[in-house]
Amino acid sequence: MTLYSMKMRASRTENGKSEHISGAERILPESALIENAGAMIDRALHHAKGRADYIQVKIEEARTEEIGYVEALPVSTVETENAEEGRKAIISLLRKIGIENGDAVLRKFHETYNMRGAMLLDVDTLERLEPDPARGIRATYMDAEHGENRAACTVKNHFQEAIVLASKVSSAPHILAEICVSDDPGYVTGYVASKKTGYVRITRLKEKDDPNGGRIFLYRGSRNDVPKTIAYLEKKKILVKNAPASPSSMPSADPWRVLAEDIRRRKDSGLYRTIKTLESAQSAHVRAKGHSLLMLASNSYLGLIDHPRVKRAAAEAVQRFGGGSGGSRLTTGSLPIHDELESAISRFKGTEATLLFGTGYMANVGILSALGRKDAIIFSDELNHASIIDGCRLARARTVIYRHADMRDLEAKIRAVRPSFGVIVADAVFSMDGDVAPLPEIIALAKKYGLLSMVDEAHATGVIGKTGRGLAEHFGLKEKPDVVMGTLSKALASEGGFVSGRQLLIDYLRNTARSFIFSTSQSPATLAAAKEALAILEEEPERVARLQENTRAFVDALAENGVETSSESAIVPIIVGDEWRALQAANQLYDEGIFLSAIRYPTVAKGSARLRAAMMATHTEDELRAAAAKIAAVLQRLM
Ligand SMILES: *Cc1c(COP(=O)(O)O)cnc(C)c1O
Repeated sequence: MTLYSMKMRASRTENGKSEHISGAERILPESALIENAGAMIDRALHHAKGRADYIQVKIEEARTEEIGYVEALPVSTVETENAEEGRKAIISLLRKIGIENGDAVLRKFHETYNMRGAMLLDVDTLERLEPDPARGIRATYMDAEHGENRAACTVKNHFQEAIVLASKVSSAPHILAEICVSDDPGYVTGYVASKKTGYVRITRLKEKDDPNGGRIFLYRGSRNDVPKTIAYLEKKKILVKNAPASPSSMPSADPWRVLAEDIRRRKDSGLYRTIKTLESAQSAHVRAKGHSLLMLASNSYLGLIDHPRVKRAAAEAVQRFGGGSGGSRLTTGSLPIHDELESAISRFKGTEATLLFGTGYMANVGILSALGRKDAIIFSDELNHASIIDGCRLARARTVIYRHADMRDLEAKIRAVRPSFGVIVADAVFSMDGDVAPLPEIIALAKKYGLLSMVDEAHATGVIGKTGRGLAEHFGLKEKPDVVMGTLSKALASEGGFVSGRQLLIDYLRNTARSFIFSTSQSPATLAAAKEALAILEEEPERVARLQENTRAFVDALAENGVETSSESAIVPIIVGDEWRALQAANQLYDEGIFLSAIRYPTVAKGSARLRAAMMATHTEDELRAAAAKIAAVLQRLM
């Protein structure tokens, strides 16, 4: 079988300077070339570092007899607490390989920082052997062996690529070992690799935020053989057998260590999450540890959670029907309030029928996995809620992600695949940005291409549109999206999810949505609370108006204090950028009596951390103005 070496390099020129965006290489059979080339190009065009404006793909034939096969080095991990411990770990590993002057070798390491490739170092004389010291040595022409049917992967597998490289390098003539430290300021794990020690990950080789990294190949042998070694590293085509795809695919002596390491990484990068406990109902003001706080993090937009009517309705339902519902409705039956609530939601949303789910999360997972049949394609906005993403993952359909609210991109992608059945899905109000989906265009595209349109109205119901009916009312549309999903947990002050639409849709989902079929339905208290909250919303639309006025007042007050934000809903994102800064700001505001959440990766993209303020109809404009001034002051201090 003939194989091909394929390499991609992508860069972007900004202010006359070319910046590397992404690079990849593979060794593949002909049958896998097109799909992998497509995946590589896709990655270059949608890279976190920016969109490449120059992409080079090079494909060369690699005849079977040219290819060498190497077994992957076994992987192990040494835990270190700081850079100094990491240094000692390297020296002790080098000693095992018969290198006694590890300390002197490491003193050369800083010379690698500005090199493009690796340093080739005579381990005994400490002479550098690269013909071009600025370029260094580039180990290339290698891949993990995948057999015939390798799937194209749009995400780079850094772990596997590192092992492939280290396995090739260690198999080169006269190379004793390789030392590698990443130049990614956020990545502090490095490795020492050699035939004798295997691939040894060292969990901390440098301090966090250090942008310096490099690579040294340690050589011991005759000067005459140096060209042979370089030719092997740079030219010989190597396939690495049995390279593990992730640290978790290796057997581990201690499974708990895998979890502990994950937690440590989260703590290091400001991504570790904890939960605060409140001692009062979720209203405009809450109590925590005896202090009163202004609540700017609640989704109870209309302030109905502790409304006397809501509490009474829940209590009466418990008196009459007890604690739980006893099972799935298909096997155990419905309570009258299930049917009453479904009718009330249909009336409110102006649809034929409604189906309830245990939560909004379960509604999305159930709807999308059921509509996402094998022959379907789901078109999903890149900023959609995690429950939509998970629904797409559970669906057998393929998912195509379109750029946030970008209708040209959406249409181009629909045209490219022309599905016979498919769904366009978007958050009505995007939960971390507070902007709204372009519904008229989404409905028009769905019609034009014979697709279903679906919106998630979790943050729209009770919030946008003059009477809080959601996105269609917001745009003044007569026509509704085909699938209207929502939750009872936000403005409706309870819990549970729903989907509304044609009777045919509801009949289909009742028979196919697994999170509906195989899960116990909501309890009497939550059903009754939601039903009563919906009744209050319909009777008192002035609550929606107050909420909308509050958002305007808050955004204006932030602007007066020099903080620019915008919002089309009740969610006001205050972009901070840095994860640590966002977390510190939230903590300081908490100490000053404001409860506000810091939203970080993976909920939003890395480097776009933010404070997310959520308005309530029950806040007063004065307290919102005071809060805006405090927020601005804290951000100023943390500059
Ligand atoms: C909160 C939310 C959900 C999930 O609803 P729950 O009832 O909390 O499970 C789904 N979609 C969006 C956009 C949300 O914000």
